[in-house]
Amino acid sequence: MDKADKIFVAGHAGLVGSAIVRGLRDGDYDNLILRTRSEVDLCNQAQVDAFFRQERPDYVFLAAAKVGGILANSSYPAEFLRDNLAIQTNVIDSAYRHGAKKLAFLGSSCIYPKMASQPIKEEYLLTGPLEPTNEWYAIAKIAGIKMAQAYRKQYGFNAISLMPTNLYGPGDNFDLQSSHVLPALLRKAHEAKLNSDPEVPVWGTGLPRREFLHVDDLADAAVFLMEHYDQPEIVNVGTGVDVTIRELVGMIQQATGYQGRVAFDESKPDGTLRKLLDVSKLTGLGWKARTPLQEGIASTYRWYLENIKSCTCHH
Ligand code: GDP
Repeated sequence: MDKADKIFVAGHAGLVGSAIVRGLRDGDYDNLILRTRSEVDLCNQAQVDAFFRQERPDYVFLAAAKVGGILANSSYPAEFLRDNLAIQTNVIDSAYRHGAKKLAFLGSSCIYPKMASQPIKEEYLLTGPLEPTNEWYAIAKIAGIKMAQAYRKQYGFNAISLMPTNLYGPGDNFDLQSSHVLPALLRKAHEAKLNSDPEVPVWGTGLPRREFLHVDDLADAAVFLMEHYDQPEIVNVGTGVDVTIRELVGMIQQATGYQGRVAFDESKPDGTLRKLLDVSKLTGLGWKARTPLQEGIASTYRWYLENIKSCTCHH
């Protein structure tokens, strides 16, 4: 990738896309093409095709997706399947047809079988049934991986796929109905502290384990792989370390200074018990995550405090 190449970041306003834009600019890639949803609706094939025909980007980061936490995923199965299939089909196909040199597709660790042995290697894809709370999203992402591989195989299109673990960081979604656990608990602990609530509610048993990657680390890995990796096989992107939800709550209490009790609400789902990625392929390529979790939580909390008023979510 040359500094002057034209780079399209699909989903630039989201958690991942905005981090990729920051990472590219830090690396002196300044010829970025960005479009809001009202300018180009990525679910609309005609709009996507017209956009690629006109702009002809050299490189494409496909970070646009309909995403959400455990509740959103299981409440809107049709939307998660339909919108993600549409976005990735339109973008991958148009990128190929209009001469892009390379595309990086962003997937998710939830593509792996629910009962996969841990840590999860890339080759475990499609070896067993999925976690039911997010299988709609997972099926769409698996189709995206296969589409990237098929376009490489049949058309020689240089499409690669990255599978990030659970992400967090500035720009995250703090809406309690649709967010992931880390931003949700930051907000809950913050509000519990402000209101002097005796306890903070946490979903599930606290026993599931999750691996958390700062989104700026993911962006760094995405640029690194765009520069250095040209193979059909998917690549896991994570830290290689996981914590229980209970441990996460402890770190969030430390960051926010909330000292009340933790009330586990076992009527809410735990989801999969563990999904730790094996990141040896990526470390073998020469990349490692840098942000320690406690530090990343503290800086995300600072971002939340600074942006709390402009946040579009309901307070
Ligand atoms: P997942 O990784 O796809 O399961 O998605 P989440 O990040 O939404 O949930 C991870 C785990 O955190 C699950 O076991 C949830 O039950 C648990 N959890 C605890 N409290 C919360 C919360 O307030 N919001 C969310 N989204 N998850 C929570």
